[in-house]
Amino acid sequence: MRAAIIGAGPSGFYTTGMLLNAGFAVDLFDVLPTPYGLVRAGVAPDHPKIKLVTRVFDKTAKHADFRFFGGVELGRDITREELLGRYHAVVYAMGTSDDNRLGIPGEELAGSHAATQFVAWYNGHPHHTDHEYDLSVQRAVVVGNGNVAIDVARMLVLTDDELRATDTADHAIEVLEASALEEVVLLGRRGPVQAAFTNPELRELGELTRADVIVDPADLELDAASQAMLAQADVTVTRNVDILRGYAAREPRGHPQRVALRFLRSPVALLGDGRVEAVRVAVNRIEASADGRLQAIPTGEEEELACGLVIRSIGYRGVEIPGVPFDPRRGLIRNLGGRVVGESGAELAGEYAVGWIKRGPSGVIGTNKKDAADTVARVLEDRDAGGLGAPELEPSEEWVLARAPDAVSWSGWANIDAHETGSGAAQGRPRVKLVRTAELHDVARRH
Ligand code: NAP
Repeated sequence: MRAAIIGAGPSGFYTTGMLLNAGFAVDLFDVLPTPYGLVRAGVAPDHPKIKLVTRVFDKTAKHADFRFFGGVELGRDITREELLGRYHAVVYAMGTSDDNRLGIPGEELAGSHAATQFVAWYNGHPHHTDHEYDLSVQRAVVVGNGNVAIDVARMLVLTDDELRATDTADHAIEVLEASALEEVVLLGRRGPVQAAFTNPELRELGELTRADVIVDPADLELDAASQAMLAQADVTVTRNVDILRGYAAREPRGHPQRVALRFLRSPVALLGDGRVEAVRVAVNRIEASADGRLQAIPTGEEEELACGLVIRSIGYRGVEIPGVPFDPRRGLIRNLGGRVVGESGAELAGEYAVGWIKRGPSGVIGTNKKDAADTVARVLEDRDAGGLGAPELEPSEEWVLARAPDAVSWSGWANIDAHETGSGAAQGRPRVKLVRTAELHDVARRH
């Protein structure tokens, strides 16, 4: 049995490992010449421990029935039909690389950026190397109350020494070091009880070397619905509120920068002549909707916040692949528990989804292990029931190389890895990332 996995991030790698264990030969494809998805291009560079999960993936890659084809794009180099003609199972694991939009006037002004792109830029994702960020401004507003918003805020205020100890892309270090930012404001449309932060990330904001964390005690005066929610909330939420109360009670330490958390505030327009100069913010209150969800409802009061940079961190969205059923409302591949389904709800034999493109952009890296186990269980059920068909063609290396002559093998990636870690060692950094596609291919081939 042969499986093709599309996307070499955590969900793709976990799926690969489990299918190899179940006796499949697995080809893992990625659009980039490099593996690991968001572990390489999403996890904040100052969180190197989180990246150690790649050791598990490297072990998987040692399996005799594993092949990696980096720099091969589904829809451009190879088609869905070609895959279905060669593999018993095709598993889509490409994550959600696009961003949600606010849908407000001024969103497209210069100085307004998606966090997805900013994160990819500072992490050296080769498709995002040429973005430009003007940090010669005094205040940045980060919209959203998730961990990505915290990552972005923290990256904006790391010290030069902190940055230079990481694998942040060199082009980003240069820009971040020259920053004139004095304040980063995080805007949450709902209250502290509804924030999506996890405890360690929120706590880290209180330990920044050169930025004070500022919380207005008034923002922690909870409405009745939020109090009721807090009374029944899990430990993450109760600890978040405790951490925020600690911040609200704290005297600023006199650091030159500030990270301010503001709650119950939604941007309703970005203002400026050609580029962002301010954000108009609606003040919200919390109200329970018919289904019990606590929603942000505008009170009618509005404020204006001067700022020169806006980073919208309000969640990721999947990108449609030609021919693969897609739910445009949710921005995901249509699937039932991992089995891809058409618009009628009928299952498509041999096609599966896993990870963020299956369930949406939520959870931590480890969440994808359980998610992969669920999808792999469906593959094995279908195999055992004789539902995987009999592809007529062999997925030969010649076929891949005819479609993508520069495809990078696992040993090609090992060359890139050695090159990057070698350059990093000389500077006391984990690696110096290569950020141009051509350069990555060149190094993959050269050694
Ligand atoms: P997230 O956790 O889903 O947070 C998205 C935030 O955007 C929420 O606060 C949401 O508020 C807000 N939002 C959505 N639409 C909005 C709108 N129109 N206006 C204003 N705010 C809006 O997503 P994320 O931060 O992108 O993170 C994705 C996943 O990766 C999460 O599971 C996260 O924990 C994980 N992650 C983990 C780490 C880590 O472990 N260190 C680091 C980064 C990311 P509502 O709640 O009101 O919808």
